[in-house]
This record gives sequence, structure tokens and C-alpha cells, in this order.
Amino acid sequence: MNEMKINSYLRVLRRSFDITYRDIEAIIADFHAEMARGLKGEGGSLKMLPAFVDVARGSESGTFIALDLGGTNFRVLQVSLNGKGRAKVEHTEKFVIPKSVMRGTGAGLFNFIARSIQRFLIGHVDPKGKRRLGFAFSFPIRQEHIASGILINWTKGFTATGVVGGDVVKLLGRSLEDYGIRNVEITALANDTVGTLAAKSYEDPTCDIGVIFGTGTNACYRERLANIKKIGPRACGGSKRMIINIEWGNFNGFMTSEFDRMLDESSNNPGKQIMEKMISGMYLGELVRLVISDMIRKKLIFKGRKAGFFRDGFTTEHMSQIEDDRSRGMKMAGRYLETIGVKKANADDLRVLKRVCRVVSRRAARISAASLAAVVTWMDPGVRRRHTVGIDGTLYERYPGFRRTIRSVLGGLFGERKKNIRLVHAKDGSGIGVAVVAAVAARNAGQN
Ligand code: ADP
Ligand code: MG
Repeated sequence: MNEMKINSYLRVLRRSFDITYRDIEAIIADFHAEMARGLKGEGGSLKMLPAFVDVARGSESGTFIALDLGGTNFRVLQVSLNGKGRAKVEHTEKFVIPKSVMRGTGAGLFNFIARSIQRFLIGHVDPKGKRRLGFAFSFPIRQEHIASGILINWTKGFTATGVVGGDVVKLLGRSLEDYGIRNVEITALANDTVGTLAAKSYEDPTCDIGVIFGTGTNACYRERLANIKKIGPRACGGSKRMIINIEWGNFNGFMTSEFDRMLDESSNNPGKQIMEKMISGMYLGELVRLVISDMIRKKLIFKGRKAGFFRDGFTTEHMSQIEDDRSRGMKMAGRYLETIGVKKANADDLRVLKRVCRVVSRRAARISAASLAAVVTWMDPGVRRRHTVGIDGTLYERYPGFRRTIRSVLGGLFGERKKNIRLVHAKDGSGIGVAVVAAVAARNAGQN
């Protein structure tokens, strides 16, 4: 009896999370229309931000410090480029950004970054030597130049005050000065997607798309200068192309479910980043939690417990572990849940939970594939050329079945021609890549 009710609930849920091929065709058309608007500067959901840099040639060289400010982690790296397409991470250190810093003042955030750089320099590098620094900043920035950028708005739970509308290079520069770090010059600022594309393009000239599936999601690609109507004729280091940061997390041409609407309303940026809220690591766990709470209220799972029992701390990482547990008893998954206070879940409940995770993660992967297909066909409608896609982010790296679903949708859309789209994992691509961007900027400025 209960089994039937559960199945019928899941059937309805699946329907409201379904993305059919017909939906995907419509998404692609809509995506293209929004890309065109964004390039002309006519507004719309896609900001289409020019990065003022093109991909690497592979001949750039030098040693650079790179900062990678994601949504969860902050990394400092020293990267050396050998001039023959090989980038080497010489040192790297990871810092976790405390929530209080993400949501405090801008000065607090940039001081935290400056302190981390100081620790890194003392720990790994000659702290007095002159250094050029590339900053991978994974939030929407309006640029006029490769070494500056105005923050348009925060995403992914950041709210640090006094930063929106300001130049993040200047703000970081000020904090570096306050900490007495005078030997480091910030020579490049790039979105993390741009870094990821630059990193892969350094070793592979067919790479023309960069994607992030991490705390948030976003993508960038190479666009012809002539198509970037909103900035007029512009030189880009002798290249006829420039990288465009799509900011695709803000796309909103989807049918949403009641759970998406609940999540959006309780977020700190309602109405914004709708696609990001359906795809990325910061939100998938919360979507599952909302569904499960509803099922508890309807007495379909975790019987005899209150809805609040499945409350805090359920994340995308838990989903990933649950989907990874292929055993019937699901003991491993059960143990993971114990750590967030979900005690003594029985195997039946765990299997239902897993089915809910699957519905949510599968939709995320199908939307991801649709968006990727939109970018590829924008550049190359017949998918005739080879496109290598550099992808960074823990969701892509670790979520079971995520890549497989993306590949299978690309196959469904393009048949044999899907071979022309090569998805490659660019581990730490954003950090390595922003060093590459700094090197490209140095080359363009005639320093290398
Ligand atoms: P960032 O986006 O901050 O640069 P990452 O690419 O490492 O950082 O992504 C972090 C996100 O990955 C977190 O929001 C988390 O939800 C998700 N995540 C962490 N571990 C896993 C995992 N094992 N499987 C899937 N997603 C994970
Ligand atoms: Mg990242």
C-alpha cells in the first residue's frame, strides 16, 4: 500500500523534473536568443561578459602566482609555464573561507585573501622576489581590461559588503598594501571558467569552451570579435577572437517545480541564478532535502519522525555518496547520514532517498548537457569541427553518473557527431589557467 503511494509520488516528482529532448530543443533555441541579446548589450538573462583575452598559444612562459576564489574553496598556487604547452603547479595551498568572511565586509574578505597570500609566500616562495599574480574570481565581473574588473553582483551565498560596483583588483591591491606585500603585482583578472578554458587551451589548441560544475555553474567560449557588438572594434592581442564569459548560471528558460520555487524564495538572491540553482553543488542537496521533508510530512519516508528530523547539513556530497552505494542494504549510505544526525535509517528509506537523489541529479546533468549543446551549436551549428571542452569542479569530477548522462544526451542530440565534442576534466583548471591568462596578458603587452 505504502509502496504504491511512494511509487506514485515519485512518478509525479519525476514528471515535474523531466527534461525531454523536445524541451532540450526549446532550451537551445532560447539559449541562442539570449546569447545574441547579451552580445548586443540588450539585457536578458545571459550577461555575455567579454574577458579581454583570447586563448593561449602554448608558447607563453614564466612563473606566476595564481589565486582561485571559488565558492567554497580558496587556493593559492605557484605555476610555471615552460613555453611548450606544459604548466606545472610548483606549490599549492588551500584555505577554507569561513561563512562569516563570505558574509562580512569586503575589507574583511580581501584581508583574508591577502593574509593567505602572505602565508603562502612565506611558506613556499621567496617572499621578497617580484611576482606577477593572476586572480581567478568566480563571480560576474564587468571588464574593460584584463587587469581590472567591476563586480556586478555576488552569487553562491556571498554577500560581503562594499564590493559590488567596485574594482576587485583595486580592492585586493589595497589589502596587499595593508599587509606590506609590495612585490606582488596583479596582472590579470579572469572568471574561473575563463581560467579553465585558458588552462586547457595552453596544451590543446582545439579547446574552445570552459565549464565549471562546482559550488556554482558557468561556462565561457571563444567568440569572433565582430560578433561582440557591445564593445565595438577592439584589439585582443592580435587575435580575431575573444573569450566570452556567458554567466550561464543565470539562464532561466526552464520549467521549474514547486521545490525549485521554494529553494529560490529562501535563497539570498531570489529570482536570480535559476539554472545554477537547478544544477550546482551548492543547491542540489537542498532540493533533495525539500523533497524529503515533503515526503516525511506525507508519511512516505522516515515514518514516525518529524519533518525537521531531516533538516540541516544534507549536501550534494551526501547525495553523491548515496548514489555511489550500490548495495542492497545501503549500509555505507546509512553511516554517512548518521554523521548529520539522521540515525537508524532503514534500507527501504535509503533506497527511496536514493531514487529522489537520482531524479534531482539526472535533471541537473540533462540541463547541463542542453546548455553545453547550445554553446557548441552557437559556434558551429553542424558540429562539424572538433571542440574540446575543459571542465573543472568537484560535482563533475565526483558525482556518480553525471558525466555519463551528459555524454548520453549529447549522443541523443548529435549522433555520431558527438565525437567532435570532447569533454576533458581540467583539474584545478581555474587556478592553473589564470596563470596562463597572466602569461597571455604579459605576451600581449610585449613583456614575454
Ligand atoms: P568551487 O566551486 O568552490 O571552486 P569545487 O569545484 O570544489 O569548488 O566544488 C565544491 C562543491 O562540490 C560543493 O558545493 C559541494 O557541494 C560539491 N561536492 C563536494 N564533494 C562532492 C562529491 N563527492 N560529489 C559531488 N559533489 C561534491
Ligand atoms: Mg573552482
